[in-house]
Amino acid sequence: MNESSTIDRQLHTDGILSPSIWDGRVFQGRWTSSEGTVIEVREPATGLTLATVGGSTPKTVVDAVERAARAQPQWQAIAPESRARVMQLAATILESNRDTVIDWIIRETGGVRGKAETELNGTIGELLHSAALFVEPEGHVLHSADPDRLSIARRIPLGVVGVISPWNFPLLLAMRSVAPALALGNAVVLKPDPQTPITGGVVLAQIFAEAGLPEGVLQIVNGGAEVGEALVCAPAVRLITFTGSTRVGRRVGQLAGEHVKKVSLELGGKSPFIVLDDADIEAAASAGAWGSFLHQGQICMAAGRHIVLRGVAQSYLDALRQHAQSLTVGDPFREDVAIGPIINQRQIGRIHELVTSSVADGAELLTGGTHETPYYQPTVLAGVRPGMAAYVHEIFGPVAAVCIAENEEHAIQLANDTEYGLSAAIQTASLDRGLRLARRIRAGMVHINDQTISDLPGIPMGGLGQSGNGSRFGSTTNVDEFTEWQWMTLGGAPTRYPF
Ligand code: NAD
Repeated sequence: MNESSTIDRQLHTDGILSPSIWDGRVFQGRWTSSEGTVIEVREPATGLTLATVGGSTPKTVVDAVERAARAQPQWQAIAPESRARVMQLAATILESNRDTVIDWIIRETGGVRGKAETELNGTIGELLHSAALFVEPEGHVLHSADPDRLSIARRIPLGVVGVISPWNFPLLLAMRSVAPALALGNAVVLKPDPQTPITGGVVLAQIFAEAGLPEGVLQIVNGGAEVGEALVCAPAVRLITFTGSTRVGRRVGQLAGEHVKKVSLELGGKSPFIVLDDADIEAAASAGAWGSFLHQGQICMAAGRHIVLRGVAQSYLDALRQHAQSLTVGDPFREDVAIGPIINQRQIGRIHELVTSSVADGAELLTGGTHETPYYQPTVLAGVRPGMAAYVHEIFGPVAAVCIAENEEHAIQLANDTEYGLSAAIQTASLDRGLRLARRIRAGMVHINDQTISDLPGIPMGGLGQSGNGSRFGSTTNVDEFTEWQWMTLGGAPTRYPF
C-alpha cells in the first residue's frame, strides 16, 4: 500500500445508519429481535465483521408477507400524491445521509468510491422517478357495446411484491423495484443478498421509515436460498422481481410458475463490445477497459467479449493492456484505488478457473491472471476463441476476453453467439456502420461509441435471451411491471336480460 495515497476514513455510524438501531435485528415494519440466526456482514477488503443483521426462516418469511398483505389495502387507498411525497422525502433523507451511505456501500460491496457515488445517485434517481409515476395515465376508456354503459380498463396494484436482489449494486438494484412498487400502491417484502443486507436492506428500511411509510408496508427478510424460495412461494406474493444469476433465475421462475405468479427476471450477461477498424483505438481501449474492469467486472452488463476487427487488433490489444496495467488495486475504503476486492473467495476461484482453463486451451495472457486474496489483477486475454471458458461463460471478474473478427459479418456472428442478450456496444467512426450492426445484435440495450454498462431510471432496462424474461425496469415500463389490468363496466341503471 502506498502510504501517501492512504485515506484514513472512519466509518460513519451516526444518523439513520446507527447500528444501535438495527444491529442483530430484522425489519418487520419496526426493528425486531430475530427468531432465526444472526447473519454476520463482512468487509470483502479486510474480512472484518462490519455488523450483524437478524436472519429469517421460511416461517418468518410467510409471517412478513402476511403482515405486508394486511398493510397494503390502506396504503393503496391513500392519494397517489401522498405516496409520491413519501418517495420524495425518502430521496431527501438519502441525500442528507450521502456520506454515511457511500462509506457503507464501499465497505460492504468492495466497490470504489466512484462506483458507490454512482450507485447512490442512481438510487435517488429511482426514488424521484417513482415519485412522478402517479401522473401517468391509469388506463383506457374502451368501446362499449351498450352506449349507456361505460367500459374502462384500469391499472391496479398487484398487492404484495417480493423483491430478491444481488450483492453487486445492492442499494440501487433493490430500490429500482422497491420504489416503483411502493409508489404504485403495493406493499413490498425485500430479501437482499446475505452478503450485503445493510446497503441492500437496512438503508431502505430506515429511509422509508423516516419518510413516513406506514408500518408494515415494507418488510425485510434476511437469508439465502431457503429464505428466497419461501418468499417466492408465499401465497400472498403476487409478483416476484428477481435480479441475479441465470442459474438461480431459472429456479425462481420455475417456482413462480408452479405457484402461478408473475415473475420478472433480470439475469446474467455476456455482453459484446465490438471495435471496428475505423474506430478511435485509444477511446475504444478506454471504453473497453471501463466496460470490463469497473467494479472488478462484477456487473451484469460488463463487456464480456471484446470483438475486434483483425486490422486494428494489435493496436487495440496494446492499448487495452496499458490501461489494465495502469489500474491501482487495493482497499477502496482506505486507499485511492481503481480496483477493489472480489466479493468472496469462491468467486476468486471461479474467475481464476475460467482464466487458466482458457489459457490451457490456447488463449494468450497479456497481463494479469494472478490473485492475492481478496484481489484479482486486471487481466487481458488475447486470442479468445469459441468454446474457450472465457468466451462462453459470464466471468464476473476483472477479465477482458478479446476475440478477433475477420470482418463485420464475423463480428456480428461472434456477438450473437451467446445464450445471453443483455447489453452491447460498437466503436466506429461511422454512425451508419454502427447503426447497421446495432440493428442485427440480439441485446436488450445497444450503445454506439460507448461501452456496455449504462442504466438510468428513465430507460427500459432489461435483457433478451437468458438475460431475462422480457420484463423491464424504469420509465413507464414500471407501470406495466408493478400493476395489473382490471376491466370495469358501469351503468346508471341495471342491465335487463331475457330470463
Ligand atoms: P445469485 O443468483 O447468486 O443471487 C441473487 C439473489 O438470489 C440473492 O439475494 C440470493 O440470496 C438469492 N438466491 C439464491 N438462491 C436462491 C433461490 N434458490 N431462490 C431464491 N433466491 C435465491 O446472484 P449474485 O451472485 O448475487 O449476482 C450475480 C449475478 O446477478 C450475475 O449473473 C449478474 O449478471 C446478475 N445480475 C443481473 C443484473 C440485471 O439487471 N440483469 C444486475 C445485477 C446482477
